[in-house]
Amino acid sequence: LKTSIKFSLIYTLVLILQTLSISLASLPQDLFHLKIASKIRTDDQSLLSVSTDYGNLTTSIPDAVLYPSSLHDISSLIRFSYTSSNPFSIAPRGNGHSINGQASAPDGVVIKMMSLGYGHSNRINVSIVNRYVDVGGEQLWIDLLHETLKYGLTPRSWTDYLHLTVGGTLSVGGISGQTSRYGPQISNVFELDVITGKGEMITCSKDQNSDLFLAVLGGMGQFGIITRARIILSPAPQKVHWIRLVYTDVVTFTRDQEHLISTENSEGSPLRLFNYVEGSFLLDRGLLGSWRSPEFFTDRDYDRMSQLVTEDGLGGVYYIEGAVYYTDEIAVQVNQELELLLGELSYMPDYAFIRNVSYVEFLDRVHDGELKLREIGEWEVPHPWLNLFVPKSRILDFDAGVIKGILSNSSAAGIILIYPMNRNKWDDRMSTMIPDEEIFYTFGLLRSASRENLQVLIEENDKILQFCNLAGIKYKQYLPHYATIKGWMKHFGKKWNNFLAMKAKYDPELILSPGSKILSSHI
Ligand code: FAD
Repeated sequence: LKTSIKFSLIYTLVLILQTLSISLASLPQDLFHLKIASKIRTDDQSLLSVSTDYGNLTTSIPDAVLYPSSLHDISSLIRFSYTSSNPFSIAPRGNGHSINGQASAPDGVVIKMMSLGYGHSNRINVSIVNRYVDVGGEQLWIDLLHETLKYGLTPRSWTDYLHLTVGGTLSVGGISGQTSRYGPQISNVFELDVITGKGEMITCSKDQNSDLFLAVLGGMGQFGIITRARIILSPAPQKVHWIRLVYTDVVTFTRDQEHLISTENSEGSPLRLFNYVEGSFLLDRGLLGSWRSPEFFTDRDYDRMSQLVTEDGLGGVYYIEGAVYYTDEIAVQVNQELELLLGELSYMPDYAFIRNVSYVEFLDRVHDGELKLREIGEWEVPHPWLNLFVPKSRILDFDAGVIKGILSNSSAAGIILIYPMNRNKWDDRMSTMIPDEEIFYTFGLLRSASRENLQVLIEENDKILQFCNLAGIKYKQYLPHYATIKGWMKHFGKKWNNFLAMKAKYDPELILSPGSKILSSHI
């Protein structure tokens, strides 16, 4: 509570300073004479509500916030800016769970996308026959899940946390343990409706306006605003065997992970049983708990793992996290296959932990942790997260230099995710950048900071990037953040020219989503 009061005071101060000096000077006053004027707010509460994000590392107060109730409201705003002699920036904001101010619009207008869904019950439409759902870009994945389950159907590809908007995750990629098998969320989209930086409403897919479709998916809001996505559905399972297998050595850990996600395992093979494969390194000092699933390990499990760590002189243990979906009809058969499968893996004997939970409980597992952290005021602290994709060929070097090196001396506990994905489940023409190897790992360093240790954690993140650069590890940042155009050019590599061409075609005035600081005339 103390921290949030402190932040509120800081924001209020920044706001007063900003309003004193600019007093909405940068927005053309004609804007407030448009039909949408009643949906544009400039009061403190509205501005403050979009001035920071989950990362809590940046503060950027826009001049106004649009609360749209129709797609027309959004296109009117964009068209007005686009045709103005002095275009201003506009950023769609989903649920504001970015880390580095990506959904901000300094001196511009933030669009509260979720306002589109308020009072509209028709923004999620399931087609049972065609097995897809048409969903508004402003909808939360958790709501989409509950709606599709009414028809016995479900999207296949998820993020670990479901209180994110469809437009927000499709603008970055959308990954989790299902990605190795079903591809990221952006690989599970048939069609999009997009409002471009010129205010045009365009329907696109792989066959129609495909350049826009491919650019927008993973495109960080740079080319258009997703107002509808048509997402693939499959029959929904009822239950899940939620599994954690402990390893003390990285070679066996990664070998088993790769074995589990191998595309060479044919459909009938027990190895195909896992519908989800992730993995973590649990630092000894982090053994006490994790917000992602506080109840998975019991106190006794933690004691046993701590013992392992002490005996082996390790800084922590690795565990594979897997999930096997099933329905009551096939429960017996799945149990038998799971037993066989576990026999093929090389985790520490007696260190397999299995819980049986409902499908919804498994998918929404992070939410409980969120509620607990909110209760004690630790959800809204700074989060200097770092997410990288690391080529498989260098994962052991990465482990030695980062996990056993830089992080072994770190005083901060947190979550360290490390799990492999198959490149062939991605479409490299989309905007999310991935390494140039058939298998690559995602590394997620998800730490909470206090104002006291924030700088130290940021420096550790920098050290990790420096280490990779020096060691020639050709990583790509996931949820990328660069301070310079040179950084962005390197990030996009061969695709940089295409990025520029798409920007020139769909957002020539550089209006959209300036918070990523890629190209902008407004910052
Ligand atoms: P915002 O933060 O509001 O916006 C993100 C970006 O997308 C901005 O650039 C914004 O301008 C743009 N944008 C927003 N809406 C639209 C739209 N409709 N059309 C076009 N552009 C739009 N990611 C994963 O892949 N896997 C995970 O498991 C995962 N877990 C997470 C857990 C937590 C607790 C948090 C905080 C984040 C996690 N993320 C994960 C990252 C998350 O997917 C991204 O930060 C995502 O962009 C956030 O969605 P949002 O709705 O909050 O979007």
